[in-house]
Amino acid sequence: EEGSEGRESGYWRLSKLAVPASDDPGKDFTGISLPLLQAIAKAIKFPVASMLPDEAFTVIRKSFDARKVLKEPQFSYTVDMDVKKLLDMEPRAWDFIARLEPKLGAVEYMPKEKLASDLVSMLNVSNEGYNNELGIRDTHNGSICPQDKKPRVAVIGSGPSGLFASLVLGELGAKVTLLERGQPVEQRGRDIGALAVRRILQSESNFCFGEGGAGTWSDGKLVTRIGRNTDGVQAVMKTFVHFGAPRNILVDGKPHLGTDKLVPLLRNFRHYLKELGVTIRFNARVDDLIVEEGQVKGIVVSDSELRPGSGSQKLSFDAVVLAVGHSARDTYNMLQQHNVDISPKSFAVGLRIEHPQELINSIQYSELAAEVQKGRGRIPVADYKIVKSLGEIDAGDEVDIAEQSRTCYSFCMCPGGQVVLTSTDPSELCINGMSFSRRASKWANSALVVTVSSHDFKPFESHGPLAGVEFQREFERRAAMMGGGNFVVPAQRVTDFINNRLSVTTLPSSSYRLGVRPSKLHELFPPYITEALQQSIIMIDREMPGFVSSEALLHGVETRTSSPLQISRHGETYESTSLRGLYPVGEGAGYAGGILSAAVDGAITKIWRFWM
Ligand code: FAD
Repeated sequence: EEGSEGRESGYWRLSKLAVPASDDPGKDFTGISLPLLQAIAKAIKFPVASMLPDEAFTVIRKSFDARKVLKEPQFSYTVDMDVKKLLDMEPRAWDFIARLEPKLGAVEYMPKEKLASDLVSMLNVSNEGYNNELGIRDTHNGSICPQDKKPRVAVIGSGPSGLFASLVLGELGAKVTLLERGQPVEQRGRDIGALAVRRILQSESNFCFGEGGAGTWSDGKLVTRIGRNTDGVQAVMKTFVHFGAPRNILVDGKPHLGTDKLVPLLRNFRHYLKELGVTIRFNARVDDLIVEEGQVKGIVVSDSELRPGSGSQKLSFDAVVLAVGHSARDTYNMLQQHNVDISPKSFAVGLRIEHPQELINSIQYSELAAEVQKGRGRIPVADYKIVKSLGEIDAGDEVDIAEQSRTCYSFCMCPGGQVVLTSTDPSELCINGMSFSRRASKWANSALVVTVSSHDFKPFESHGPLAGVEFQREFERRAAMMGGGNFVVPAQRVTDFINNRLSVTTLPSSSYRLGVRPSKLHELFPPYITEALQQSIIMIDREMPGFVSSEALLHGVETRTSSPLQISRHGETYESTSLRGLYPVGEGAGYAGGILSAAVDGAITKIWRFWM
């Protein structure tokens, strides 16, 4: 027992606990089952699993693992063991716990404090008002700024970054006005319905613009590359739960919400912000900034339904958070007119592929696929994630070797989902994917995209730092023309795409509601993109035999994978390097790519420093 002193409390985190899928209660169960207790007992070398009290364990993560290397598909768990609870109920466990090594790969000791995290401890602001588990204050008296010196902050955009910026700034006592060009979710839902049924695209209320931002009518995947266990991500996830997301998003290895869960969550978010004193204005597009001596002094806002400039209003603010997403091309132009420091950024473009979900289930799960199809709901519908590095691809002359290698990867994979129109202008056509929480549609779609960088935007260099935006627009216009108008999407069987030929027989069914038209998608992009896509599709089929199938349909185009530019800002404060008082955040500013990273980026805006 040497060295085990002080460990009678605190937690052990036990990871990689495997429970065979056939013994597990199923994907939605996040409690402690007997087979899981058996896996725990094995990890801590405790002889009788059934003697371990359930109450001492909490499931932190649960993922489905159907890799072919396993004898049998399994659920893989991470569990926290509360030592004090365990010893209170089963003192004999101490003999085994005392022998555990503090850090042994899958078994790790953590002092209690390490488990707590909330929005405000993340910001390192000490404030007694913030005391509950979620980091959202219980009373409205927790303001850290003096009553007579409440800064007036405009937050432009109500996507994840703008919402979280408003939440944190409101919590900290600023006088926040949230301006959103689109409509609240209730009206936005009707506008999106009208698009699907009557082909009416509202330029200010659509899949990209409106309350909740681009990720609202989406798959709501809550996965991120910025680290699932970081304080920021944990705080954002807990805030989602506070506003009505199911608790198992905190546990699920690949959490997702689905549109039906996101819409009520956003409504609760809005009510909370209003209660906090945040002024929320929908249908309010910010057309300009008021700048004096290199400092933002306010904004010019218009009724979105009117032409820019007409019926506009000037409002003064001490600071402006710019959280406009990457489809606000008019806003980018406006920033350029104010000489805001912007530089082009690499991103990725490509096509969206759709397969029957049953085909993906059988490729990924083999025999187990039958269980998914029976709809027993124990096993999640199959997804996939692919990254392929391609060797040298001819991108023209003057390219150095480093720039010649490209990556092709799957992006925003939506199992049981549908392909949707994400255009914001009727002359352009671009798509993405969404799903509902049950992921019950008969299709599986995913974008296959190829990295592009500033070298590729050269033909558009007259647009300066906005060259990447023009690059996107070029292919969106071509796609609209290929589809023949009316938001019909150009499509091609994957088997024909890799052979450079038009699909002549009837296309397989598509989830896209506004129609598809057989097209030469292999002629839409320049050869360096088309060839990269073709090569990687062939490589993917080697890994996932059946991926290249006459039932798989490619749709064009996917261009808005992430921002084509970055707005320079100071690392510490997030203030623009070229315009004082402007705080660019989220995906549109080039600092996030997805719901979680955008939310975290907005939440940690350090504007509050200037009144402390
Ligand atoms: P946005 O969400 O784009 O929000 C910007 C907001 O600003 C918009 O509401 C817009 O109307 C408003 N705005 C713009 N200009 C102005 C102006 N001048 N004045 C006033 N308001 C303005 N990510 C995931 O992590 N998981 C997914 O499953 C997922 N699926 C997606 C599916 C679809 C169909 C789409 C389109 C995107 C999806 N994404 C997904 C990406 C995700 O939505 C974005 O990364 C995220 O929303 C970016 O957040 P943001 O706050 O930076 O910007």
